[in-house]
Amino acid sequence: MTTVSPMPQKINLLGFDKKAMQDFFVGIGEKAFRADQVLKWIHFNGVQDFHAMTNLSKDLRQKLAEIAEISLPQIIYEKAAADGTYKWLLRLNDGNCIETVFIPEKTRGTLCISSQVGCILNCDFCSTGKQGFNRNLSTAEIISQLWIAVRKLSKADGMHDHTVTNVVMMGMGEPLLNFDNVIPALHLMLDDFAYGLSKRRVTVSTAGVVPAIYQLREVTDVALAVSLHAPNDELRNQIVPLNKKYPLDELMTACREYFKNDSRRSITMEYVMLAGVNDTPEHARQLIRLLNGVRAKMNLIPFNPFPHTHYQRSDADTINHFRDMLMKAGLNTTVRRTRGDDIDAACGQLVGQVKDRTRRNERYLRSINKKVIGENP
Ligand code: SAH
Repeated sequence: MTTVSPMPQKINLLGFDKKAMQDFFVGIGEKAFRADQVLKWIHFNGVQDFHAMTNLSKDLRQKLAEIAEISLPQIIYEKAAADGTYKWLLRLNDGNCIETVFIPEKTRGTLCISSQVGCILNCDFCSTGKQGFNRNLSTAEIISQLWIAVRKLSKADGMHDHTVTNVVMMGMGEPLLNFDNVIPALHLMLDDFAYGLSKRRVTVSTAGVVPAIYQLREVTDVALAVSLHAPNDELRNQIVPLNKKYPLDELMTACREYFKNDSRRSITMEYVMLAGVNDTPEHARQLIRLLNGVRAKMNLIPFNPFPHTHYQRSDADTINHFRDMLMKAGLNTTVRRTRGDDIDAACGQLVGQVKDRTRRNERYLRSINKKVIGENP
């Protein structure tokens, strides 16, 4: 009886940044400059077929087709909201699903992408957290969201300019708990041969993983957003449990360090407005004291409700009064316009479909406890 050996798995080049791509080509006996050519084909031109990469020799194209692939998640559905926001549900190879949202505005188009399947942090006001956690996304899965959006939007017609000018890592998951896969994806976003986005237009948003904020500073200078949400530890412990591990004084020190010696950096502080919870004048006063000496812009986010939440959105007068108090104290403050809430595409409403969350949750928590969080938050 003859046994058929299984086909070796092809290497997915989608998630390779320039360095990884150069290493790959050198590893197969080719020149490193092939990296730029292939990055451009994949990300700039959106080509998935190696045979179409006409500036490579026929032999190299054939070789690549045998050993490599450009593999993307499957689009399960695409929804458009009344205000022009798009949401895609993408199915990954293992059956998990993630969500990606595009928000068109007059002068820019922002893509909100996910970094994990679900989220481990369990912030009380966030619907992603309530779904549990399954796993980190690979670099290919992270960048595939941008690849797909760029292709899809170039075909769409509508009242807005459908160009992705900004990327925010504010979808499902905590990007700084998936550091190793997020960083190459950021490189691809900024690479002129891939997406060529300006570093000020790429934002990593974190609930406050303090050691990773220090690390991030060393490897990239993209914009940073911190999900603050409360001006004191007692309240923040309740609504952002990660605060028990990294309390506000440590977080604020990390934020001050983030822009130390670099006047071009600034941090956006996100603050979800929860009626009667964190939105009183006293909270505003505490916030002003807390942010003394931190070069931060404040972004107030009206709470987006989801099923079974006990929170409510602060009313417009309360939000405006809160904003005015911060502005008077010299804090540059904006109120985020809620977009796409009719298709559950607004902040904190992204849920995807998370498989097998409990078992993996426990396993992941154990490993992450050792690495970054310390205790179960
Ligand atoms: N884990 C990262 C990124 C994902 S959340 C972080 O915490 O920053 C992206 C932003 O949406 C965060 O500021 C988050 O706090 C906010 N958010 C979550 N749920 C929300 C909700 N229901 N309404 C409004 N904003 C919400």
